[in-house]
Amino acid sequence: MSFPHHVKIVEVSPRDGLQNESQIIPAKVKIDFINQLSVTGLPVIETTSFVSPKWIPQLADNSEVFKGIEKIANVSYPALVPNIQGLESAIASGVKEIAVFTTPSEQFSLKNTNCSVTESMHRISEVVEIAKKKRIRIRAYLSCVLGCPYEGKIAPEKVGELGEALLRMGCYEISLGDTIGVGTPPKIKRLLEIVSRHVPLKYLAVHFHDTFGQALVNIYSALEFGIGVIDASVAGLGGCPYAKGASGNVATEDVIYMLQGMGIETGVDLKKLIEAGRFISKQLGRNPNSKVNLALGGPV
Ligand SMILES: [Zn+2]
Repeated sequence: MSFPHHVKIVEVSPRDGLQNESQIIPAKVKIDFINQLSVTGLPVIETTSFVSPKWIPQLADNSEVFKGIEKIANVSYPALVPNIQGLESAIASGVKEIAVFTTPSEQFSLKNTNCSVTESMHRISEVVEIAKKKRIRIRAYLSCVLGCPYEGKIAPEKVGELGEALLRMGCYEISLGDTIGVGTPPKIKRLLEIVSRHVPLKYLAVHFHDTFGQALVNIYSALEFGIGVIDASVAGLGGCPYAKGASGNVATEDVIYMLQGMGIETGVDLKKLIEAGRFISKQLGRNPNSKVNLALGGPV
């Protein structure tokens, strides 16, 4: 057992979180929220998605938000990009880092992006080619790596192969998403054992959802395996689109509290993070979906 000394937290609340909240938050509030996150010590804040507002009206203000935030030195502000049009808008808005996404599940790919996994990889390769020429860094998400709402079980081999292909294309990090939160520690271990045969551990991140209350224990298992990058969402922003009322992203506050308890550095100020989580929760008119936030701050 050897835990990392330092863990990089990738904050996904402004994008993954708000995209899965039914309420539409004004751009001004989002900018204020991201600026608050920027001073917590978080190294990466995924700001928005350059996807058609037809699909995700919650993030229709992508350009306004990206241009409006104060960019702090040493903080990365990636934006999700689904295709070349998205990349072009992102570039026009000054984005320096993007995230692309696909999935090992054929059914999820068809329902989510209206194309097969192979077609989706082709689409990504086109985006990546242009991004590389523009010296834009590229992160990749693989969704539903431990289970799919339509297909059920997912073969870890397929996750490994896609991860390897994305790394070869030029993505600098592959984030493994348990989008429906069905993972448990033995499944995490098996997935990482197989995927790390294709993608060295240092290029892997974990993106766990708390749908079944397993996110923290799964993160612990991933850390035990040597994973050093964790995606999380302050106040647990973002529900689960496949189970109404269920939890979505693991709360960043809960992850930081656990890491602090394990003596693992993140550089994140928990107090400031809690404040940012309470600010956005107030805007959504509900309590933070974070046990640590509620325990230390009470209801909003
Ligand atoms: Zn997520």
